[in-house]
Amino acid sequence: MFKTIQVLQKIQKIDLEILAVEEERKRYAAEIEAITAGIESGGQAIEEASAEIEGLRARIREADDRIAQSNAKVEKDEKRLNDIKNSKEMNALTKEISGANKAKRQCEQDKAALNAKVDEKTLVLKEKEEAFRAKNSELERLAKEAQVNGPAWQEAIDKNTEARDAIKAAIRPEILRKYEMIRAKRGGQGIALIKNETCQGCFIHLPPQVYIILKRGADELQFCPHCHRILYVENADPAEAV
Ligand SMILES: [Zn+2]
Repeated sequence: MFKTIQVLQKIQKIDLEILAVEEERKRYAAEIEAITAGIESGGQAIEEASAEIEGLRARIREADDRIAQSNAKVEKDEKRLNDIKNSKEMNALTKEISGANKAKRQCEQDKAALNAKVDEKTLVLKEKEEAFRAKNSELERLAKEAQVNGPAWQEAIDKNTEARDAIKAAIRPEILRKYEMIRAKRGGQGIALIKNETCQGCFIHLPPQVYIILKRGADELQFCPHCHRILYVENADPAEAV
């Protein structure tokens, strides 16, 4: 028969293995969730950037229309120059022509600025699309890995649970409950080794008698006064389980 603390050591080892598998499974799920959210917002950003570029292109088409209108007006006005009868009319027409030319130059400047903006936004859009594709393939990879690993994870959990069930009867149920309670509060670690008179769970110095009692091998549980973990020593003398 094993001592209570030795059974607890075995249970702890099994529990940590189960915990490691569960954490890996959770890590995958969390990564998949985060990347899915990233893809969603990335897709939205692409839509927004595309709409913005579309808006700029519409404004470029408007500028083109205005440039064409100005050209038509200048052409028409220049034809009328031949029919001018006096200097008053001449002045008015010249003013019209220079006004139309000025408007045209302004439109051309606007158009150039809009084109530059389209180029700039197109670069940003391309980057967003690239990131979107990268995220999608990352998601594909993660989902595939999770799918491939799934059965192995489950098998490891099942096997460990089975092994745990097979040995837990060797200790009193209230001790197992106590261990589980401490474990739940202490990051999955219900027992701790004493090394150099220090609890290896919380690294607090322990009174020497704790070590002496445990080293003697009596089947009496000792608890860390600080973190309350059940303490054990290496190579204690064997004794019978309770
Ligand atoms: Zn401790």
